[in-house]
Amino acid sequence: MIKLKNYINGQLIEPISNLYFDNYQPSTGKVYSQIPDSDEKDVELAYVAAKNAFHSWSVLPKEQRSKILLKISSLIEKNLDKLALAESIDNGKPLKLAKTVDIPRAAANFNFYGTGILHYAANSHSMEETAVNYTLRQPVGVAGCISPWNLPLYLFSWKIAPALAAGCTVVAKPSEITPMTAFLLSEICIEAGLPNGVLNIVHGLGSKVGNAIVSHPNIPLISFTGGTVTGKHIASIAAPMFKKLSLELGGKNPNIIFADCDYDKMLSTTMHSSFANQGQICLCGSRIFIERKIYEKFKVDFVNKTKQLTIGNPLDEKTKIGAVVSKQHQEKILSYIELAKKEGGTILCGGNKIILENELSQGYYIAPTIIEGLDYNCRTNQEEIFGPVVTITPFDTEDEVLKMANSTIYGLASVVWTENITKAQKMANQLHAGIVWINCWLLRDLRTPFGGVKASGVGREGGFEALDFFTEPKNVCIKL
Ligand code: NDP
Repeated sequence: MIKLKNYINGQLIEPISNLYFDNYQPSTGKVYSQIPDSDEKDVELAYVAAKNAFHSWSVLPKEQRSKILLKISSLIEKNLDKLALAESIDNGKPLKLAKTVDIPRAAANFNFYGTGILHYAANSHSMEETAVNYTLRQPVGVAGCISPWNLPLYLFSWKIAPALAAGCTVVAKPSEITPMTAFLLSEICIEAGLPNGVLNIVHGLGSKVGNAIVSHPNIPLISFTGGTVTGKHIASIAAPMFKKLSLELGGKNPNIIFADCDYDKMLSTTMHSSFANQGQICLCGSRIFIERKIYEKFKVDFVNKTKQLTIGNPLDEKTKIGAVVSKQHQEKILSYIELAKKEGGTILCGGNKIILENELSQGYYIAPTIIEGLDYNCRTNQEEIFGPVVTITPFDTEDEVLKMANSTIYGLASVVWTENITKAQKMANQLHAGIVWINCWLLRDLRTPFGGVKASGVGREGGFEALDFFTEPKNVCIKL
Protein backbone atom coordinates (compact mmCIF):
# COMPACT_ATOMS: atom_id res chain seq x y z
CA MET A 1 0.00 0.00 0.00
CA ILE A 2 1.44 3.36 -1.04
CA LYS A 3 2.57 5.66 1.77
CA LEU A 4 2.48 9.32 0.84
CA LYS A 5 5.35 11.55 1.87
CA ASN A 6 5.70 15.19 2.73
CA TYR A 7 7.64 17.36 0.28
CA ILE A 8 9.96 19.53 2.33
CA ASN A 9 13.10 21.33 1.19
CA GLY A 10 13.00 19.48 -2.12
CA GLN A 11 12.91 16.03 -0.50
CA LEU A 12 10.12 13.49 -0.10
CA ILE A 13 10.23 12.67 3.59
CA GLU A 14 8.26 10.88 6.27
CA PRO A 15 6.46 12.83 8.98
CA ILE A 16 8.64 13.39 12.05
CA SER A 17 6.21 11.38 14.21
CA ASN A 18 6.30 8.53 11.69
CA LEU A 19 2.52 8.30 12.13
CA TYR A 20 0.09 7.75 9.26
CA PHE A 21 -3.65 7.46 8.80
CA ASP A 22 -5.82 5.78 6.22
CA ASN A 23 -6.88 7.18 2.87
CA TYR A 24 -10.18 5.80 1.58
CA GLN A 25 -11.22 5.25 -2.01
CA PRO A 26 -14.77 6.69 -2.18
CA SER A 27 -15.92 4.41 -5.00
CA THR A 28 -15.18 1.25 -2.99
CA GLY A 29 -15.12 2.50 0.61
CA LYS A 30 -11.79 0.71 1.05
CA VAL A 31 -8.48 2.00 2.38
CA TYR A 32 -5.96 2.24 -0.45
CA SER A 33 -3.13 4.44 0.82
CA GLN A 34 -1.60 5.99 3.91
CA ILE A 35 -1.33 9.70 4.62
CA PRO A 36 1.34 11.30 6.83
CA ASP A 37 -0.23 12.43 10.10
CA SER A 38 2.01 15.47 10.23
CA ASP A 39 1.97 18.07 12.99
CA GLU A 40 3.41 21.46 13.88
CA LYS A 41 6.96 20.08 13.89
CA ASP A 42 6.67 19.17 10.20
CA VAL A 43 5.14 22.58 9.50
CA GLU A 44 8.10 24.22 11.24
CA LEU A 45 10.52 22.19 9.12
CA ALA A 46 8.60 23.28 6.00
CA TYR A 47 8.56 26.90 7.17
CA VAL A 48 12.34 26.96 7.75
CA ALA A 49 12.91 25.50 4.28
CA ALA A 50 10.57 28.09 2.74
CA LYS A 51 12.18 30.94 4.68
CA ASN A 52 15.68 29.90 3.61
CA ALA A 53 14.59 29.63 -0.02
CA PHE A 54 12.73 32.94 -0.03
CA HIS A 55 15.50 35.40 -0.82
CA SER A 56 16.98 33.55 -3.78
CA TRP A 57 13.55 32.71 -5.23
CA SER A 58 12.18 36.23 -4.82
CA VAL A 59 15.13 37.83 -6.61
CA LEU A 60 15.35 35.21 -9.34
CA PRO A 61 14.49 37.00 -12.61
CA LYS A 62 10.82 36.47 -13.33
CA GLU A 63 11.74 34.91 -16.68
CA GLN A 64 13.46 32.09 -14.80
CA ARG A 65 10.59 31.61 -12.35
CA SER A 66 8.32 31.57 -15.38
CA LYS A 67 10.38 28.87 -17.10
CA ILE A 68 10.10 26.55 -14.10
CA LEU A 69 6.34 27.10 -13.76
CA LEU A 70 5.88 26.38 -17.47
CA LYS A 71 7.91 23.20 -17.08
CA ILE A 72 5.62 22.12 -14.21
CA SER A 73 2.62 22.87 -16.45
CA SER A 74 3.98 20.77 -19.29
CA LEU A 75 4.81 17.89 -16.93
CA ILE A 76 1.23 17.96 -15.62
CA GLU A 77 0.03 17.74 -19.23
CA LYS A 78 2.47 14.91 -19.94
CA ASN A 79 1.18 13.01 -16.89
CA LEU A 80 -2.47 13.81 -17.55
CA ASP A 81 -3.67 10.20 -17.62
CA LYS A 82 -1.82 9.24 -14.44
CA LEU A 83 -2.97 12.35 -12.56
CA ALA A 84 -6.58 12.03 -13.74
CA LEU A 85 -6.70 8.40 -12.65
CA ALA A 86 -5.25 9.32 -9.25
CA GLU A 87 -7.77 12.15 -8.84
CA SER A 88 -10.70 9.94 -9.75
CA ILE A 89 -9.62 7.16 -7.37
CA ASP A 90 -8.92 9.59 -4.54
CA ASN A 91 -12.04 11.74 -4.90
CA GLY A 92 -14.70 9.51 -6.47
CA LYS A 93 -15.25 11.87 -9.40
CA PRO A 94 -15.78 10.46 -12.91
CA LEU A 95 -12.43 9.83 -14.59
CA LYS A 96 -13.71 11.66 -17.64
CA LEU A 97 -14.26 14.82 -15.58
CA ALA A 98 -10.78 14.59 -14.08
CA LYS A 99 -9.32 14.15 -17.57
CA THR A 100 -11.22 16.97 -19.21
CA VAL A 101 -11.54 19.50 -16.39
CA ASP A 102 -9.45 18.98 -13.23
CA ILE A 103 -6.04 18.12 -14.60
CA PRO A 104 -6.09 20.35 -17.71
CA ARG A 105 -7.06 23.22 -15.44
CA ALA A 106 -4.18 22.46 -13.04
CA ALA A 107 -1.79 22.64 -16.01
CA ALA A 108 -3.51 25.84 -17.16
CA ASN A 109 -3.05 27.42 -13.71
CA PHE A 110 0.73 27.00 -13.88
CA ASN A 111 0.77 28.08 -17.52
CA PHE A 112 -1.39 31.13 -16.83
CA TYR A 113 0.70 32.42 -13.91
CA GLY A 114 3.97 31.33 -15.50
CA THR A 115 3.21 33.69 -18.37
CA GLY A 116 1.11 36.19 -16.38
CA ILE A 117 4.04 37.21 -14.19
CA LEU A 118 5.88 38.38 -17.31
CA HIS A 119 3.13 40.93 -17.93
CA TYR A 120 2.59 42.08 -14.37
CA ALA A 121 3.47 45.74 -13.85
CA ALA A 122 3.05 48.34 -11.14
CA ASN A 123 1.93 51.99 -11.23
CA SER A 124 3.80 55.25 -11.12
CA HIS A 125 2.28 58.58 -10.08
CA SER A 126 3.91 61.73 -11.32
CA MET A 127 3.63 64.99 -9.31
CA GLU A 128 4.62 67.01 -12.34
CA GLU A 129 7.97 68.70 -11.68
CA THR A 130 7.91 68.15 -7.90
CA ALA A 131 8.31 64.42 -7.48
CA VAL A 132 7.60 61.00 -8.88
CA ASN A 133 6.07 58.09 -7.00
CA TYR A 134 6.44 54.55 -8.14
CA THR A 135 4.95 51.41 -6.63
CA LEU A 136 7.13 48.44 -5.92
CA ARG A 137 5.25 45.16 -5.71
CA GLN A 138 7.36 42.87 -3.57
CA PRO A 139 6.57 39.24 -2.74
CA VAL A 140 5.23 39.10 0.81
CA GLY A 141 7.23 36.14 2.11
CA VAL A 142 6.32 32.57 3.01
CA ALA A 143 2.72 31.99 1.95
CA GLY A 144 0.38 29.48 3.62
CA CYS A 145 -1.94 27.80 1.10
CA ILE A 146 -4.76 25.50 2.23
CA SER A 147 -7.18 23.85 -0.19
CA PRO A 148 -10.28 21.59 -0.13
CA TRP A 149 -11.12 18.15 -1.50
CA ASN A 150 -13.69 18.84 -4.21
CA LEU A 151 -11.32 19.93 -7.01
CA PRO A 152 -8.05 18.80 -5.44
CA LEU A 153 -5.21 19.59 -7.86
CA TYR A 154 -7.24 22.26 -9.67
CA LEU A 155 -7.65 24.39 -6.52
CA PHE A 156 -4.30 23.52 -4.93
CA SER A 157 -2.49 24.76 -8.04
CA TRP A 158 -4.79 27.82 -8.31
CA LYS A 159 -3.11 29.09 -5.13
CA ILE A 160 0.41 27.75 -5.49
CA ALA A 161 1.00 28.94 -9.05
CA PRO A 162 0.37 32.67 -8.43
CA ALA A 163 2.24 32.53 -5.10
CA LEU A 164 5.35 31.07 -6.76
CA ALA A 165 5.03 33.33 -9.79
CA ALA A 166 4.93 36.39 -7.52
CA GLY A 167 8.15 35.29 -5.83
CA CYS A 168 6.72 33.94 -2.58
CA THR A 169 7.78 30.59 -1.23
CA VAL A 170 5.04 28.31 0.02
CA VAL A 171 3.99 25.96 2.79
CA ALA A 172 0.90 24.20 1.46
CA LYS A 173 -1.61 21.70 2.76
CA PRO A 174 -4.02 19.81 0.50
CA SER A 175 -7.18 18.35 1.99
CA GLU A 176 -6.40 15.27 3.99
CA ILE A 177 -9.36 13.62 2.23
CA THR A 178 -7.78 13.93 -1.23
CA PRO A 179 -3.99 14.27 -0.92
CA MET A 180 -2.85 12.04 -3.79
CA THR A 181 -2.42 14.50 -6.66
CA ALA A 182 -0.66 17.00 -4.37
CA PHE A 183 1.80 14.20 -3.62
CA LEU A 184 2.25 13.52 -7.34
CA LEU A 185 2.73 17.25 -7.88
CA SER A 186 5.69 17.16 -5.49
CA GLU A 187 7.33 14.53 -7.73
CA ILE A 188 6.65 16.75 -10.73
CA CYS A 189 8.19 19.78 -9.00
CA ILE A 190 11.36 17.79 -8.32
CA GLU A 191 11.51 16.73 -11.97
CA ALA A 192 10.91 20.32 -13.11
CA GLY A 193 13.90 21.54 -11.11
CA LEU A 194 12.00 23.74 -8.67
CA PRO A 195 14.72 24.85 -6.21
CA ASN A 196 14.64 23.19 -2.79
CA GLY A 197 12.33 24.77 -0.25
CA VAL A 198 10.42 26.96 -2.71
CA LEU A 199 7.32 24.78 -2.41
CA ASN A 200 6.71 22.59 0.63
CA ILE A 201 3.71 20.29 0.91
CA VAL A 202 2.75 19.03 4.35
CA HIS A 203 0.05 16.35 4.53
CA GLY A 204 -2.24 15.82 7.48
CA LEU A 205 -5.28 17.01 9.35
CA GLY A 206 -6.69 20.51 9.16
CA SER A 207 -6.84 20.70 12.93
CA LYS A 208 -3.09 19.98 13.20
CA VAL A 209 -1.26 20.94 10.00
CA GLY A 210 -3.76 23.58 8.83
CA ASN A 211 -3.91 25.14 12.26
CA ALA A 212 -0.11 25.20 12.57
CA ILE A 213 0.19 27.01 9.22
CA VAL A 214 -2.51 29.54 10.08
CA SER A 215 -1.15 30.30 13.54
CA HIS A 216 2.54 30.33 12.56
CA PRO A 217 3.89 33.73 13.66
CA ASN A 218 6.16 34.12 10.61
CA ILE A 219 3.78 33.09 7.84
CA PRO A 220 2.33 36.50 6.95
CA LEU A 221 -0.36 35.51 4.47
CA ILE A 222 -2.92 32.75 4.17
CA SER A 223 -4.78 31.75 1.05
CA PHE A 224 -7.61 29.42 2.03
CA THR A 225 -10.38 27.70 0.10
CA GLY A 226 -12.89 25.62 2.03
CA GLY A 227 -15.99 25.80 4.18
CA THR A 228 -17.33 28.99 5.75
CA VAL A 229 -17.09 27.61 9.29
CA THR A 230 -13.40 26.76 8.81
CA GLY A 231 -12.86 30.16 7.17
CA LYS A 232 -14.34 31.90 10.19
CA HIS A 233 -12.05 29.94 12.50
CA ILE A 234 -9.00 30.77 10.37
CA ALA A 235 -9.92 34.47 10.31
CA SER A 236 -10.26 34.47 14.10
CA ILE A 237 -6.64 33.29 14.41
CA ALA A 238 -5.07 35.14 11.51
CA ALA A 239 -6.79 38.54 11.73
CA PRO A 240 -5.41 39.50 15.18
CA MET A 241 -1.95 38.57 13.85
CA PHE A 242 -2.57 41.03 10.97
CA LYS A 243 -2.01 38.40 8.32
CA LYS A 244 -3.08 39.03 4.77
CA LEU A 245 -6.08 36.77 4.14
CA SER A 246 -7.78 35.45 1.06
CA LEU A 247 -10.81 33.34 1.94
CA GLU A 248 -12.77 31.47 -0.75
CA LEU A 249 -15.67 29.90 1.11
CA GLY A 250 -19.02 28.17 0.69
CA GLY A 251 -22.00 29.01 -1.45
CA LYS A 252 -25.70 28.38 -1.98
CA ASN A 253 -25.94 29.59 -5.51
CA PRO A 254 -29.19 30.51 -7.27
CA ASN A 255 -29.90 29.39 -10.84
CA ILE A 256 -32.62 31.73 -12.15
CA ILE A 257 -34.53 30.61 -15.21
CA PHE A 258 -36.83 33.01 -17.07
CA ALA A 259 -39.47 31.78 -19.53
CA ASP A 260 -37.79 33.65 -22.39
CA CYS A 261 -34.55 31.67 -22.16
CA ASP A 262 -33.05 29.41 -24.82
CA TYR A 263 -34.76 26.39 -23.26
CA ASP A 264 -32.65 23.53 -24.62
CA LYS A 265 -29.36 25.23 -23.85
CA MET A 266 -30.62 26.09 -20.37
CA LEU A 267 -31.78 22.53 -19.66
CA SER A 268 -28.57 20.86 -20.71
CA THR A 269 -26.38 23.37 -18.82
CA THR A 270 -28.61 23.12 -15.74
CA MET A 271 -27.90 19.38 -15.66
CA HIS A 272 -24.19 20.23 -15.28
CA SER A 273 -24.62 23.15 -12.90
CA SER A 274 -26.74 20.91 -10.66
CA PHE A 275 -24.90 17.60 -10.67
CA ALA A 276 -21.35 17.96 -12.06
CA ASN A 277 -18.83 16.38 -9.67
CA GLN A 278 -21.84 14.99 -7.72
CA GLY A 279 -22.84 18.60 -6.97
CA GLN A 280 -19.60 19.10 -5.05
CA ILE A 281 -18.49 22.29 -6.78
CA CYS A 282 -18.74 25.51 -4.82
CA LEU A 283 -20.23 27.10 -7.96
CA CYS A 284 -23.04 24.58 -8.51
CA GLY A 285 -26.51 26.15 -8.68
CA SER A 286 -28.32 24.28 -5.93
CA ARG A 287 -31.39 26.54 -5.70
CA ILE A 288 -33.19 26.60 -9.03
CA PHE A 289 -35.84 29.30 -9.49
CA ILE A 290 -38.10 28.90 -12.53
CA GLU A 291 -40.57 31.44 -13.90
CA ARG A 292 -44.00 29.97 -13.22
CA LYS A 293 -45.04 29.95 -16.93
CA ILE A 294 -42.53 27.17 -17.68
CA TYR A 295 -42.30 25.59 -14.22
CA GLU A 296 -44.30 22.42 -14.97
CA LYS A 297 -42.58 21.79 -18.31
CA PHE A 298 -39.15 22.33 -16.76
CA LYS A 299 -39.98 20.06 -13.84
CA VAL A 300 -40.96 17.15 -16.10
CA ASP A 301 -37.98 17.54 -18.44
CA PHE A 302 -35.44 18.08 -15.64
CA VAL A 303 -36.65 15.07 -13.64
CA ASN A 304 -36.64 12.85 -16.74
CA LYS A 305 -33.13 13.84 -17.71
CA THR A 306 -31.86 13.42 -14.14
CA LYS A 307 -33.30 9.92 -13.92
CA GLN A 308 -31.24 9.01 -16.99
CA LEU A 309 -27.89 9.98 -15.44
CA THR A 310 -25.69 6.92 -15.10
CA ILE A 311 -24.49 6.40 -11.54
CA GLY A 312 -21.55 4.06 -11.36
CA ASN A 313 -17.87 3.30 -11.20
CA PRO A 314 -16.04 6.62 -11.65
CA LEU A 315 -13.52 4.84 -13.85
CA ASP A 316 -16.22 3.81 -16.34
CA GLU A 317 -16.47 6.14 -19.35
CA LYS A 318 -20.29 6.04 -19.26
CA THR A 319 -20.51 7.22 -15.64
CA LYS A 320 -21.98 10.66 -15.12
CA ILE A 321 -22.37 10.48 -11.33
CA GLY A 322 -19.54 8.94 -9.33
CA ALA A 323 -19.17 8.59 -5.57
CA VAL A 324 -19.33 11.46 -3.10
CA VAL A 325 -16.07 12.07 -1.33
CA SER A 326 -16.47 10.28 2.01
CA LYS A 327 -18.84 8.27 4.15
CA GLN A 328 -19.17 11.20 6.52
CA HIS A 329 -20.08 13.52 3.65
CA GLN A 330 -22.55 10.97 2.28
CA GLU A 331 -24.25 10.90 5.68
CA LYS A 332 -24.35 14.69 5.83
CA ILE A 333 -26.02 14.91 2.41
CA LEU A 334 -28.56 12.20 3.30
CA SER A 335 -29.36 14.01 6.55
CA TYR A 336 -30.20 17.13 4.55
CA ILE A 337 -32.56 15.10 2.36
CA GLU A 338 -34.32 13.92 5.53
CA LEU A 339 -34.45 17.52 6.74
CA ALA A 340 -36.01 18.60 3.42
CA LYS A 341 -38.76 16.00 3.90
CA LYS A 342 -39.42 17.25 7.42
CA GLU A 343 -39.60 20.80 6.10
CA GLY A 344 -42.38 19.76 3.74
CA GLY A 345 -40.40 19.10 0.56
CA THR A 346 -41.44 16.54 -2.03
CA ILE A 347 -38.67 14.37 -3.46
CA LEU A 348 -39.23 14.26 -7.23
CA CYS A 349 -36.35 11.90 -7.91
CA GLY A 350 -33.42 10.40 -6.02
CA GLY A 351 -33.40 11.02 -2.29
CA ASN A 352 -31.54 7.86 -1.42
CA LYS A 353 -28.14 6.27 -1.31
CA ILE A 354 -27.27 3.81 -4.05
CA ILE A 355 -25.65 0.45 -3.39
CA LEU A 356 -23.71 -0.78 -6.40
CA GLU A 357 -22.48 -4.31 -6.94
CA ASN A 358 -19.35 -6.26 -6.10
CA GLU A 359 -16.26 -4.23 -5.17
CA LEU A 360 -18.32 -1.01 -5.33
CA SER A 361 -20.88 -2.16 -2.76
CA GLN A 362 -19.28 -0.18 0.08
CA GLY A 363 -18.82 2.98 -2.03
CA TYR A 364 -20.47 6.30 -1.20
CA TYR A 365 -23.12 6.83 -3.88
CA ILE A 366 -26.18 9.07 -3.79
CA ALA A 367 -28.88 9.32 -6.47
CA PRO A 368 -29.14 12.83 -7.92
CA THR A 369 -32.02 14.42 -6.04
CA ILE A 370 -34.59 17.07 -6.97
CA ILE A 371 -36.85 18.52 -4.29
CA GLU A 372 -39.85 20.85 -4.68
CA GLY A 373 -42.37 22.53 -2.43
CA LEU A 374 -39.96 24.15 0.02
CA ASP A 375 -40.09 27.68 1.35
CA TYR A 376 -37.11 29.72 0.15
CA ASN A 377 -36.30 30.53 3.76
CA CYS A 378 -36.13 26.98 5.13
CA ARG A 379 -32.82 25.44 6.18
CA THR A 380 -32.62 23.19 3.11
CA ASN A 381 -32.70 26.33 0.98
CA GLN A 382 -30.38 28.36 3.17
CA GLU A 383 -27.57 25.97 4.15
CA GLU A 384 -24.87 24.56 1.90
CA ILE A 385 -25.42 20.85 1.24
CA PHE A 386 -22.59 20.39 -1.28
CA GLY A 387 -23.94 17.24 -2.91
CA PRO A 388 -26.17 16.08 -5.80
CA VAL A 389 -29.23 17.76 -4.31
CA VAL A 390 -31.15 20.71 -5.78
CA THR A 391 -34.44 22.39 -4.99
CA ILE A 392 -36.83 23.86 -7.55
CA THR A 393 -39.08 26.83 -6.78
CA PRO A 394 -41.44 28.80 -9.07
CA PHE A 395 -41.49 32.60 -9.21
CA ASP A 396 -43.64 35.27 -10.86
CA THR A 397 -41.67 38.53 -10.86
CA GLU A 398 -38.10 39.74 -11.07
CA ASP A 399 -38.29 41.39 -7.67
CA GLU A 400 -39.65 38.23 -6.07
CA VAL A 401 -36.86 36.05 -7.45
CA LEU A 402 -34.21 38.60 -6.49
CA LYS A 403 -35.51 38.58 -2.92
CA MET A 404 -35.36 34.78 -2.76
CA ALA A 405 -31.98 34.55 -4.52
CA ASN A 406 -30.38 37.10 -2.19
CA SER A 407 -31.87 35.67 0.99
CA THR A 408 -28.94 33.45 2.08
CA ILE A 409 -25.82 34.39 4.02
CA TYR A 410 -23.79 33.39 0.93
CA GLY A 411 -22.91 35.26 -2.23
CA LEU A 412 -20.52 33.25 -4.38
CA ALA A 413 -21.98 32.67 -7.84
CA SER A 414 -25.29 32.92 -9.64
CA VAL A 415 -26.73 31.91 -13.00
CA VAL A 416 -29.39 33.76 -15.01
CA TRP A 417 -31.18 32.40 -18.06
CA THR A 418 -32.96 34.94 -20.29
CA GLU A 419 -32.70 36.23 -23.84
CA ASN A 420 -33.66 39.72 -22.61
CA ILE A 421 -30.45 41.69 -22.13
CA THR A 422 -32.11 44.42 -20.04
CA LYS A 423 -33.51 41.87 -17.63
CA ALA A 424 -30.16 40.05 -17.52
CA GLN A 425 -28.38 43.27 -16.66
CA LYS A 426 -30.84 44.16 -13.92
CA MET A 427 -30.29 40.76 -12.35
CA ALA A 428 -26.50 41.04 -12.69
CA ASN A 429 -26.58 44.44 -10.97
CA GLN A 430 -28.74 43.34 -8.09
CA LEU A 431 -27.66 39.80 -7.28
CA HIS A 432 -25.47 39.41 -4.21
CA ALA A 433 -22.69 37.41 -5.81
CA GLY A 434 -19.07 37.66 -6.85
CA ILE A 435 -19.83 35.98 -10.17
CA VAL A 436 -22.92 36.17 -12.39
CA TRP A 437 -23.15 33.83 -15.35
CA ILE A 438 -25.70 34.87 -17.97
CA ASN A 439 -26.81 32.00 -20.22
CA CYS A 440 -23.86 29.82 -19.24
CA TRP A 441 -22.19 28.21 -16.25
CA LEU A 442 -18.58 27.64 -15.25
CA LEU A 443 -17.31 29.49 -18.30
CA ARG A 444 -13.98 30.69 -16.95
CA ASP A 445 -11.47 33.22 -18.17
CA LEU A 446 -8.58 33.00 -15.73
CA ARG A 447 -7.97 36.77 -15.97
CA THR A 448 -11.29 37.57 -14.27
CA PRO A 449 -11.69 38.26 -10.53
CA PHE A 450 -12.89 35.15 -8.73
CA GLY A 451 -14.49 35.12 -5.29
CA GLY A 452 -17.57 35.75 -3.25
CA VAL A 453 -19.35 38.31 -1.10
CA LYS A 454 -20.96 37.97 2.34
CA ALA A 455 -20.17 34.59 3.96
CA SER A 456 -18.71 33.28 0.68
CA GLY A 457 -15.39 34.93 1.34
CA VAL A 458 -13.02 37.82 1.47
CA GLY A 459 -10.77 38.89 -1.39
CA ARG A 460 -10.43 37.76 -4.98
CA GLU A 461 -8.33 35.20 -6.78
CA GLY A 462 -7.67 35.08 -10.51
CA GLY A 463 -5.75 37.25 -12.95
CA PHE A 464 -3.60 39.99 -11.47
CA GLU A 465 -5.78 40.00 -8.32
CA ALA A 466 -3.90 36.91 -7.10
CA LEU A 467 -0.52 38.48 -7.93
CA ASP A 468 -1.64 41.57 -6.00
CA PHE A 469 -2.47 39.34 -3.04
CA PHE A 470 0.90 37.61 -2.98
CA THR A 471 2.80 40.90 -3.28
CA GLU A 472 2.87 43.96 -1.04
CA PRO A 473 2.69 47.38 -2.68
CA LYS A 474 5.30 49.84 -1.48
CA ASN A 475 5.20 53.47 -2.60
CA VAL A 476 8.56 55.11 -3.28
CA CYS A 477 8.46 58.92 -3.56
CA ILE A 478 11.44 60.67 -5.17
CA LYS A 479 11.67 64.45 -4.89
CA LEU A 480 12.91 65.83 -8.16
P1 NDP B 1 -13.02 22.46 4.93
O1 NDP B 1 -13.21 23.86 5.37
O2 NDP B 1 -13.45 21.38 5.83
O3 NDP B 1 -11.48 22.18 4.62
C1 NDP B 1 -10.73 22.96 3.71
C2 NDP B 1 -9.26 22.82 4.05
O4 NDP B 1 -9.02 23.39 5.32
C3 NDP B 1 -8.80 21.37 4.14
O5 NDP B 1 -7.48 21.27 3.70
C4 NDP B 1 -8.89 21.13 5.64
O6 NDP B 1 -8.09 20.08 6.06
C5 NDP B 1 -8.40 22.45 6.16
N1 NDP B 1 -8.76 22.72 7.54
C6 NDP B 1 -9.74 22.17 8.29
N2 NDP B 1 -9.72 22.67 9.55
C7 NDP B 1 -8.73 23.58 9.59
C8 NDP B 1 -8.22 24.44 10.60
N3 NDP B 1 -8.72 24.46 11.83
N4 NDP B 1 -7.19 25.25 10.29
C9 NDP B 1 -6.67 25.26 9.05
N5 NDP B 1 -7.08 24.44 8.06
C10 NDP B 1 -8.11 23.61 8.32
O7 NDP B 1 -13.71 22.37 3.52
P2 NDP B 1 -13.90 21.07 2.64
O8 NDP B 1 -12.57 20.46 2.36
O9 NDP B 1 -14.98 20.25 3.25
O10 NDP B 1 -14.40 21.70 1.25
C11 NDP B 1 -15.71 21.98 0.97
C12 NDP B 1 -16.01 23.45 1.18
O11 NDP B 1 -15.15 24.24 0.37
C13 NDP B 1 -17.42 23.82 0.76
O12 NDP B 1 -17.97 24.68 1.72
C14 NDP B 1 -17.21 24.56 -0.55
O13 NDP B 1 -18.22 25.48 -0.86
C15 NDP B 1 -15.91 25.23 -0.31
N6 NDP B 1 -15.27 25.59 -1.56
C16 NDP B 1 -15.21 26.91 -1.90
C17 NDP B 1 -14.67 27.29 -3.12
C18 NDP B 1 -14.55 28.72 -3.50
O14 NDP B 1 -13.82 29.01 -4.45
N7 NDP B 1 -15.21 29.65 -2.84
C19 NDP B 1 -14.18 26.29 -4.08
C20 NDP B 1 -14.30 24.93 -3.60
C21 NDP B 1 -14.83 24.61 -2.39
P3 NDP B 1 -8.74 18.61 6.21
O15 NDP B 1 -9.32 18.22 4.92
O16 NDP B 1 -7.59 17.82 6.60
O17 NDP B 1 -9.79 18.75 7.28
